[in-house]
Amino acid sequence: MTRSHVYVTTTIPYVNARPHVGFALELVQADVLARHHRRRGDAVRLQAGTDDNALKNVQAAERAGVPVQEFVDRNAAAFVALHRPLNVSVDDVVHTSRDPGHRAGVERFWRACEAAGDLYRKHYEGLYCVGCEQFSTPAELDDGRCPEHGTAPQRVAEENWFFRLSRYADRLHDLIDSGRLRIEPAERRNEVLGFIAGGLEDFSVSRSVARARGWGIPVPGDPSQVVYVWWDALGNYLTALGYGTGDADLRRWWSAADRRIHLLGKGVVRFHAVYWPAMLLSAGLPLPTEILVHGYLTAGGRKISKSGGATVDPVALVDAYGTDAVRWWLLREVPRVGDADFTHDRLIARADDELANGIGNLVNRVVAMLHRYRDGRPPVLPGTDGEVLLDPEARPRDAGRLPDVPAGQVVAACERAPALVAAALDAFDLRAATEAVRAIADAANRFVEQVRPWELARAERAGDGDAGRRLDAALAVLLHACRTLGAELSPFLPDAADRIARQCAAVDGRLPAPSPVFPRLARP
Ligand SMILES: [Zn+2]
Repeated sequence: MTRSHVYVTTTIPYVNARPHVGFALELVQADVLARHHRRRGDAVRLQAGTDDNALKNVQAAERAGVPVQEFVDRNAAAFVALHRPLNVSVDDVVHTSRDPGHRAGVERFWRACEAAGDLYRKHYEGLYCVGCEQFSTPAELDDGRCPEHGTAPQRVAEENWFFRLSRYADRLHDLIDSGRLRIEPAERRNEVLGFIAGGLEDFSVSRSVARARGWGIPVPGDPSQVVYVWWDALGNYLTALGYGTGDADLRRWWSAADRRIHLLGKGVVRFHAVYWPAMLLSAGLPLPTEILVHGYLTAGGRKISKSGGATVDPVALVDAYGTDAVRWWLLREVPRVGDADFTHDRLIARADDELANGIGNLVNRVVAMLHRYRDGRPPVLPGTDGEVLLDPEARPRDAGRLPDVPAGQVVAACERAPALVAAALDAFDLRAATEAVRAIADAANRFVEQVRPWELARAERAGDGDAGRRLDAALAVLLHACRTLGAELSPFLPDAADRIARQCAAVDGRLPAPSPVFPRLARP
């Protein structure tokens, strides 16, 4: 059997300012998917990048009084610098202004659509929001202002190149409606279908060199124009694979890949679910298989934005609370549909409740009990290799082998977790996926209160051999739960998963001494 090839992309952020926590959300979500697939044995490429060729980057550089390339490079480095503190397993990063292959790929894409008869020049007048890098119709504005940025768009009149989007409306509708191009969650798919049903108009795909301040990729054969930044940026998903310079990676990770997954925020769905697939159809290339859309973060009730508004630095958060706590908050708190409000108190409460008190406390008390009652040696149950405990149907004293402990719920939670995680991630439901893992700790902590191992230990010391066998069984079940927790946590909290695995792995027959898996964050 050949391995499945899974290509996962994040959007490439504008580098007009330093990153904020909203982009950390997308990186962590993409990393979870990548790690999940790697763990299942799939070949995975996690692709990230930076969107350098935007007019808003130019304007920000002018405001900062820094040459554009220098400004862009400095902020791009700040985005890449997020990967390590967030422990995001990115395989490759594309920088659209300096990767030599990117320009060649954008040019090739342009020529392909031109050859398909989908590009033409026309005079155009419209309202342009530089923040969005997009023309808006008056109906899309809020009191004359961009609903995303709250600013009044500029009136622009110029001659531009246009893409025949209108030609692809029916095909796009069919592809999305049939699920061949899957959009999750369904609310976003319906939004896209509604937008298509409202009629698709051709969109402009170039800007005058003057308006773009000479920044960007020139239109092939028309040096008076530069390629529209969204056209340029969307192309990164292919140029990163060598489209335009050599096709080896392109075949493996795009044309012949089993899954081509784009992650993105709700504000850029139209570009990814309408413009981009139409461009691919025009160029004769396969479409993404999945478009997964997340909501936005606010901070203390305020919109987060790189430029103005509230800003929360994800690196500072990791410095203060650690990678696990930040990842956990992003994965647990952000709903599948809708936005989440970030506050420091919420992050601390979530980490202390579920990580330190829930999972961490379980692992710590189980390892401590194994040391206290069994000298750190995982119990071996007579007549079993322990595997019988993994059967949720196993009855107490089954075949005389399983001692009488009510382990059913713990065993079932362990058993169920992998399938629940896989199904939840497939539906892009990070909350449900993490809940399936957390549920193991819940069941195991309840089990401890129920069987009260300390009482079994006391009875054993008083000479009750049956209590000793039950204590062995209880500790074996609990150790199994901790090991399962470590394994199932690995896509979500890879660092913590490692610590748990090390706590639960016997060296020369003995577990290491117990040490806390998660720090408590709240000040006493
Ligand atoms: Zn805008």
